[in-house]
Amino acid sequence: CGIVGAVSSRNIVPILVQGLQRLEYRGYDSCGVAVHGASLGAGGGLQRARSTARVAELLEQVQAVPIVGATGIAHTRWATHGAPLECNAHPHFSHGPGAQASAGGTAPGRVALVHNGIIENYEALRTALQAQGYGFASQTDTEVIAHLVDSLYAGDLFQAVQAAVAQLHGAFAIAVMHQNEPHRVVGARAGSPLILGVGQGGAEHFLASDAMALAGVTDQIVYLQEGDVVDLQLGRYALVGADGQPLDAVQRPVRTVQ
Ligand code: GLU
Repeated sequence: CGIVGAVSSRNIVPILVQGLQRLEYRGYDSCGVAVHGASLGAGGGLQRARSTARVAELLEQVQAVPIVGATGIAHTRWATHGAPLECNAHPHFSHGPGAQASAGGTAPGRVALVHNGIIENYEALRTALQAQGYGFASQTDTEVIAHLVDSLYAGDLFQAVQAAVAQLHGAFAIAVMHQNEPHRVVGARAGSPLILGVGQGGAEHFLASDAMALAGVTDQIVYLQEGDVVDLQLGRYALVGADGQPLDAVQRPVRTVQ
């Protein structure tokens, strides 16, 4: 339903949670946030908090643990596949093949992913991933994407996400992190909206399903088009189109939103 993501050098959790609050009006049944602990020099890798209550409760949870990081993704879920339970709330983790699905609750992830939309071929993908040894911790269509990215990862998350989305049928906007790349978030869209926000001085970058989520954070927006995949890093970003070719600032201009 709602996506917010960021690559920054300051603790980004308050901005992620505020972004979710700006998207609350759309309705949701659960919410969650994941950060890379190493992005702020802290340990812990990919950590998350999820809730079937309001975003305000999620905020209390992240403050209590606490969960802090400069790279993160957040989500409000409107369930399409799987009941509105914490195990089905995003972000979804992949722990790699052979990992216990039951460890999905607290163990740090290898891949963390949020998704808006519906993956129509998730059953075929799940069967193939189970045959590769992936255990599933949810009933969602979304979790297959996390494991698919993990299975295709060879050191470059941007490449892995491009390869993964080529196998997806359906409507999606996604935001993904990998434990090996603490200062990177990759996004992709097909059939669901996603925008890139360029932060002050171009040092930090944001993703959102709606520019409204970034109100007060940045008004410098790049609207992704169908099939685009975007790579957010510290101080730079890159885009490729559905054909895998790089897109420049003329093809995907930065616009100032009111
Ligand atoms: N289909 C996904 C799920 O049920 C995403 C739903 C959404 O767009 O929030 O978890």
